[in-house]
Amino acid sequence: MNNDTATPAATATNSTLAGNYFISNYPPFSFWTEDQKIEVEVALNSEPVPGVKLGLYHHIPFCRKRCHFCYFRVYTDKNAKDIQTYLDATIAELKSLAERPLVKGRKPHFVYFGGGTPSYLSARQLGELTDRMKAVLPWEAAEEIAFECEPGTLNPGKLTAIKELGVTRLSLGIESFDDHILEINGRAHRSSEVFTAYERAKTEKFEQINIDLIAGMVEETEAKWQRNIEQTIALRPDSVTIYQMEIPYNTTIYKEMKAEGKLVAPVADWQTKRRWVKEAFAALEGAGYSIASGYTAVLNSKKTKFVYRDELWSGADLLGLGVASFSHAAGVHYQNLTEIDAYLAAINAGELPLKRAFRTSPDERMIREFILQMKLGRVELGYFAEKFGVDISERFAGQLEHLGAEGLLKVSATEVRLSRDGLLCVDTLLHEFFLQQHRTSQIV
Ligand code: SF4
Repeated sequence: MNNDTATPAATATNSTLAGNYFISNYPPFSFWTEDQKIEVEVALNSEPVPGVKLGLYHHIPFCRKRCHFCYFRVYTDKNAKDIQTYLDATIAELKSLAERPLVKGRKPHFVYFGGGTPSYLSARQLGELTDRMKAVLPWEAAEEIAFECEPGTLNPGKLTAIKELGVTRLSLGIESFDDHILEINGRAHRSSEVFTAYERAKTEKFEQINIDLIAGMVEETEAKWQRNIEQTIALRPDSVTIYQMEIPYNTTIYKEMKAEGKLVAPVADWQTKRRWVKEAFAALEGAGYSIASGYTAVLNSKKTKFVYRDELWSGADLLGLGVASFSHAAGVHYQNLTEIDAYLAAINAGELPLKRAFRTSPDERMIREFILQMKLGRVELGYFAEKFGVDISERFAGQLEHLGAEGLLKVSATEVRLSRDGLLCVDTLLHEFFLQQHRTSQIV
């Protein structure tokens, strides 16, 4: 039993300060080190564990323009030749990985194109890239091919080409339907492009179309947020993903805050952002959607799948290709080099383009899956008993009791279930389940 006392979420500050709020992995990235890069070779040279699925993530680090809230590795100044050089390097990386015992002979169960802006590539570049990827690791058996798009890049020919790649889930980074908000936050697209792109995507009959929104962009207002919800519901996408705006240190917004000596970001506070997501979820439920995670509403929960998310959150092997991409191989986390020149140089030298790594222990893998699955709003105790031999209700008795007393979750004989309020602030609750040595300063 672990009775560590924890920081109550209620005492955390409400203003949006600089830093990361969203928890996407465990142990935190700050614990991954160059020293542990050797562990990646060990992992790739091991045999796969029967039953563990394999996924591919391809990072396209190019965008038309850098959004002011963006914290990803993106480039806005690369020409067609630079892009081709980069894509060639990712194929070389994939070929090198596909020869390793962990990967050889396996077929990807899911493939994800993220960025950056995958739809920034031309139809020809996309066709060639995916043909070459499939020649190395055929993905005809994949259950999901997910693809992120920036609406302004989607001309009709592009969407037809994306459909022909076999993409099953098209994710449109709309973020807001308001042109002033899009402009002031540095987005490249405008609302007219959103509607055109959405109609074209419907015409192509993708299995699943997702819309991304952000609650709390700079200059968001109550009235504009309500219009975002109404317009989303009017489009009736298969799923809607809503992020609460965070301001990590490498964003343009943070750089401006620093220059002006400001500690509080010029966006809504956390209480307001949570209320906005709560209102959006309620409106979506009223329109027939159900809530599938702390960020997602789905129209048809039987049909709408998130294979990448669900497999990753239950321990799948994930090979990340490209600059700054993240991987998880046989229990080893690693991240690629985060500058494109260094990445290309490593590939040209025939080396793995590694920046940092972390070998997880079985206990850390259990905690990782637990905190990631908490984001679904429901964790099955039987899964952890069977897979890790751990009784979650005993292991985390102190934390669960404390969060239960705050009305954020309930524990039954079979599951931990978050309340709606718990789900809306789930990322702030997860630190309580970290091992003591991994608890770092918390933003909210
Ligand atoms: S489109 Fe996405 S990846 Fe590109 S700059 Fe904007 S937020 Fe970043």
